[in-house]
Amino acid sequence: MKKLDGKIAVVTGASKGIGASIAKHLAAEGAAVVVNYAFSKEGADRIVDEIVSTGGKAIAVQADVSKRVEVEQLFAKTQQVFGRLDILVNNAGIYENYSLEDITEQRFHKQFDLNVLGLLLTSQQGVKHFGAEGGNIINISSLVSTIPLPNSSIYSATKAAVDAITKSLAKELGSRNIRVNAINPSLVETEGTHLAGAIGNDFQKQVEAQTPLGRIGQPQDIALAAVFFASSDSAWITGETLVISGGF
Ligand code: NAP
Repeated sequence: MKKLDGKIAVVTGASKGIGASIAKHLAAEGAAVVVNYAFSKEGADRIVDEIVSTGGKAIAVQADVSKRVEVEQLFAKTQQVFGRLDILVNNAGIYENYSLEDITEQRFHKQFDLNVLGLLLTSQQGVKHFGAEGGNIINISSLVSTIPLPNSSIYSATKAAVDAITKSLAKELGSRNIRVNAINPSLVETEGTHLAGAIGNDFQKQVEAQTPLGRIGQPQDIALAAVFFASSDSAWITGETLVISGGF
């Protein structure tokens, strides 16, 4: 018997990076997984193929989760294929750094629309598909919600909002046995952090120098904690933010 046998999960932004690893780890524990993506159909299909080729169940579903109509379509498809939902991982997120003088309304709304509004929209729709026994929401926040870096005021604020939403929804939904927790990673090597220029340079070295365990994270470091929050191993834990940072 695996930890998540018979469970249905949606992982937003699972075509690459942390979300892809979470999707694969949930599936390895027996969950059927909806691999959501915005643009990377090829990436999402590859993750689905990996899951299916190892005996798991998964489908890829395109949806920009910052848009209400597309969020509704994502959960309608999940309902149609799998019949209900037990686990929602709000992973899709973007990080862009701007100095104070470079902040614009457009740059503010781009990050808030996905990282905050998108997470609220998926949670709102997702809980409608949880069964009478409840469900699980896992939000991927960030260490910068509590230890912001220079030039990250917008992104750090989105993740501070995610922490607050996590605690608020945990109180709001606890009586329905819906647990809501957050995982707050330090720097993790992903397609996104490579693209952002955070890997293989002085920034990575600086982070490692301040990290007692001496290395940056890999997606699996986060995915294993997501499995813990998704399973009954964490049955009496809700409203928590778990920093995973090698001790940064
Ligand atoms: P990544 O490699 O850039 O992957 C981002 C994923 O999100 C992709 O699957 C992407 O899909 C999807 N996505 C982007 N916009 C979307 C939208 N509008 N709707 C649906 N999906 C969308 O990112 P990552 O580094 O794995 O980060 C994942 C999460 O962890 C984010 O919330 C990030 O803030 C958080 N985090 C990351 C780190 C880190 O160091 N990596 C640290 C702390 C927190 P497409 O490929 O289709 O665009």
